[in-house]
Amino acid sequence: MAEQVFHHPDIYRIDIPLTGNPLKNLNCYVIQDGAESLVIDTGFRNEECLRTLMEGMAELGISLKHTKLFVTHLHSDHAGLAQYFDYPDTRIYMGQTEHRYLQKLMSGAIRGVRETMYLAEGYPPEKYYEADNKNPARVYMPNQEFAVTELQDGDEIQVGEVKVTALEMPGHTPGLMCCYLEKEKIMFTSDHVLFDITPNITNWPEMEDPLGHYLKNLDRILEYEVEYAFPAHRNLSYKTLQQRTGEIKQHHRKRLEEILEILRKRPGGAYEIAAGLTWSLRGKDWEQAPEKQKWFAVGETLSHLEYLMGKGKVVRKQKEAEGEVRNFYVAV
Ligand SMILES: [Zn+2]
Repeated sequence: MAEQVFHHPDIYRIDIPLTGNPLKNLNCYVIQDGAESLVIDTGFRNEECLRTLMEGMAELGISLKHTKLFVTHLHSDHAGLAQYFDYPDTRIYMGQTEHRYLQKLMSGAIRGVRETMYLAEGYPPEKYYEADNKNPARVYMPNQEFAVTELQDGDEIQVGEVKVTALEMPGHTPGLMCCYLEKEKIMFTSDHVLFDITPNITNWPEMEDPLGHYLKNLDRILEYEVEYAFPAHRNLSYKTLQQRTGEIKQHHRKRLEEILEILRKRPGGAYEIAAGLTWSLRGKDWEQAPEKQKWFAVGETLSHLEYLMGKGKVVRKQKEAEGEVRNFYVAV
């Protein structure tokens, strides 16, 4: 069902279920003005998401063959169904950095790099493969190329009379974009700022210091005048961006401090460090937590370690273990 979340211009939310995923849902937004529409994000490439999206769009009188689509970032819950919009009369918009990275992911070029990276952190190989094979990011990602109009930071899209500005805010992914409606003071925050959960900040092969970028872009988003923030998951904003970005920064500061504390006691690899951190692993401890949750936790730990290395607070060293080169980190 499409629920109207704003009037003049008309903005609707289609609540797309992400069954079995801790994120619970994706908020697909539709901006409609006159005969034009812009759909923001799609849901996973699976039956349930496609059906819900189609029903919502039908209710609003929008066809896949004649609309604009904005994909805020490469994650499958946002880009999963984009290929279904690939028609001569549609436009699929995506940031250039993000689109190029998605193409590399789809070609499988990044997979091996990440595998080598995680195994060097002491991730037990069989557990790594188990998590990797079940990762929804892979299972539900687009499986066909589609034509994309690539955007740069600050580019504008016109939807009827409505002007939408694309703002590149790397951190959660290498080139995530938020959509800003300056006149209406509306920000579609995508996964850059979420209100009920903390966006995952992981490491990305070929991207330096994602957490550093992320924290800078938490400050940058505050430079825009925003009265209504529309996040990509769960509930709409009930706090200001100022309040919420403050809480998220505090979360990362605590995590950085926690990692340093662990390393002051004992140097270790990212897998071992992740096991010692406090996570909300759905009420379970590390040993019993689902493998795919651990996979995210190790990525999150790596992005924090990289940040600490950039600040000169941690150094990475290497040693040999069972014939393999392993990374370990030492507090300076
Ligand atoms: Zn998401």
